[in-house]
Amino acid sequence: MVNQYIDAHIHLDRYEELDRNRIVKEMADHGVQGLISVSMDLASSMATRSLYLAHPGQVHPAYGYHPEQPPLAAAELEALTAWIRAHHSEMIAVGEVGLPYYSRLEAEADGRAFSYAPYTEMLEKFIQLAVELNKPIILHAVYEDADLACDLLEKHDLQRAHFHWFKGAADTIDRMIHNRYMISITPDVQYEEEIQQLVKQYPLELMMVETDGPWPFEGPFAGQMTHPHMLSEAVAKIAELKGISSEEAAQRLLYNTKSFYGV
Ligand SMILES: [Zn+2]
Repeated sequence: MVNQYIDAHIHLDRYEELDRNRIVKEMADHGVQGLISVSMDLASSMATRSLYLAHPGQVHPAYGYHPEQPPLAAAELEALTAWIRAHHSEMIAVGEVGLPYYSRLEAEADGRAFSYAPYTEMLEKFIQLAVELNKPIILHAVYEDADLACDLLEKHDLQRAHFHWFKGAADTIDRMIHNRYMISITPDVQYEEEIQQLVKQYPLELMMVETDGPWPFEGPFAGQMTHPHMLSEAVAKIAELKGISSEEAAQRLLYNTKSFYGV
C-alpha cells in the first residue's frame, strides 16, 4: 500500500486553475489524503472557501492574512475577522498569519524604515481570534520572529500553534519543543543542511510535512511545479535523518497532522 500523507500547508488558491484541478484529481493516487489550504487575505480566504465547498474532505480551509505584505488598516482587519467569525464552523485553523521577517530584511537592505508594531498588533488580534473560536493557528514566523510569536502565544495561552516552514535558533527550538508547538518540514529537507539539522533536533511527534505550494523548490525539484506528491520525498529524508523506515515516518507524520487539525 502507498504511504499516506496530508499536506499541512499549501496555497491551493494560488495555482492556475488547470494545475489546481490536476492536483486535486491526482492527490489520492499519490497517497495524499488531504490539503490544509491556507489563505493570504480576505479575497484569498473566499477563494479557499470555494475550493473547500467544491472538494469537501480533501481541502481543509484556513483563513487569515499573510504577513509578508503591507499591514491591514483597522477597517480591513475588522472586515476580515468578521468574515472569519461568520465562516468559522468550516474553518480548520486561523492562517496563514505571522510576522514579516523577509519584508523586514528587504527593507533593511534598501535602507528603508520598517515598523513591526502594526504587524505584532495584527498577530495578537489573530491569536485572540483563534482562542475565541477555539481553533489552531498557522504561523509564518521564523528566526527572531518566532520568539515574538512565542511571547504572544504564551501571553494568550494558545497552545495549538503550527509554525510552518520553521527555521530558528537553538534556544527558540528548545522553547518551542517545551511548549509542544508543531512545525512542518518542506521538500527542501532533501538539500538544506539547516532543515536537516532541525529535523534531527525536533521531536518527530511534533512534526508534519507540507509543500507551501505553489512555492517552487530547488535541488532535485528544480524546474518542477510544486505538487503534494513531493511529500513522499520529504518523508523519505525525514525517515533517513531519524533512522526509521519511511513507512513508520509517514504513519507518525499523518497521525500528528490528523490529531493536530482534527481531520
Ligand atoms: Zn504559506
